[in-house]
Amino acid sequence: MKIHEYQAREIFRKYGMPVPPGDVCATADEVKAAAARIGKPVVVKAQVHVGGRGKAGGVKIAQTPDDAWEIGKQILGMDIKGLTVKKVLVAQAVDIESEAYIGVIVDRQAKGVTLMASAAGGVDIEEVARETPEKIVKLTVDPLLGINMFQARRLAFAIYDDKKIAGQAAKVLMKLYRAFWENDCSLAEVNPLVVTPDGEVLAIDAKINIDDNALYRHPDIERLRDLDAEVAEEVSAREYGLSFVKLDGNIGCCVNGAGLAMATMDLVKKYGGEPANFLDIGGSSNPEKVVAAMRIIAKDPNVKAILFNIFGGITRCDDVANGLKAALAEFQPDVPLTVRLTGTNEAEGRKILESIGINAKSLMVEAVQAAIDSAGVNPVVPSETLV
Ligand code: GDP
Ligand code: MN
Repeated sequence: MKIHEYQAREIFRKYGMPVPPGDVCATADEVKAAAARIGKPVVVKAQVHVGGRGKAGGVKIAQTPDDAWEIGKQILGMDIKGLTVKKVLVAQAVDIESEAYIGVIVDRQAKGVTLMASAAGGVDIEEVARETPEKIVKLTVDPLLGINMFQARRLAFAIYDDKKIAGQAAKVLMKLYRAFWENDCSLAEVNPLVVTPDGEVLAIDAKINIDDNALYRHPDIERLRDLDAEVAEEVSAREYGLSFVKLDGNIGCCVNGAGLAMATMDLVKKYGGEPANFLDIGGSSNPEKVVAAMRIIAKDPNVKAILFNIFGGITRCDDVANGLKAALAEFQPDVPLTVRLTGTNEAEGRKILESIGINAKSLMVEAVQAAIDSAGVNPVVPSETLV
């Protein structure tokens, strides 16, 4: 789950990180009042779940409260990479001598938690990673041992020459790691971490992503969820307990089981289609879930065909078929539907589907090819045969 910068800043502040205070505002009048309260030049920042707001015109400095009102008017309602700005953060502007990057991620490859630091901060860090990876220093921490001061100092000295500044940065790194660890983050970063002309180290941007599977341990963070800022389909899928990830393809996939869903997506690609989504309806034959799944898939204008791929294990095929029958009585998608049904009570399930005019396939390959055919996209049939 992503949270907004102003929310991440609060978490960082709780851990003692040097974050300048700010107010979140939803109207230009509120922006003006916040700037007047601060009484110094302020920075007005769009609160949307994407990076590169600065470049997109979503981060601006205002010298006076009237200035701030104008800028608030400009930024609120603005579109940044497809997201509408509904809130802005108003914080005291700082003078910047240098901008660095520090971040912590779950590093699957290293089987640990990796801290990253770069003196080339402020800009798009993905670009730095791509074009000049040598400018990013990394340190992998054993998650069971945590981070030591000497490790943090080593990293800090890799980006700062000044002893005092590096010392401050090392402390910030320790705190960032703790914030990351205790909140079950998948990512926590500060870009830029700035040094002011007075030699003070400040975190003036904050980004935190939380592992969805750990949210139950952080009800206070879960409450920060901003439904307006998330993909609508993913929001409604979560309501029905479906695991759903939206993709850009043309074949809507509805599958029971995450592994089978992955395999289905692979096969769709292999035969020349593009999956429109990952969707695991779980081991459920609940018609309500099936209807929800179909509605979500069918809403996507890119979807040209829907493929149901059901493997009956503990879930029985006849249950699933009954669920599908009930679902189709309630909702008929206006794109072709292909069903693959195999496993426990397959014959019974097949009969139920026949009664509503669906001739279910039993092989996955057949079903995938049929779905792609029905979508009217040109299938590419690989030479070898799969089961
Ligand atoms: P992002 O573009 O979405 O990552 O937003 P940031 O919060 O990182 O802001 C983008 C850039 O705006 C930063 O890299 C800074 O150069 C600049 N900026 C942000 N806040 C301030 C500030 O308080 N003072 C000054 N001088 N520049 C700022
Ligand atoms: Mn930034």
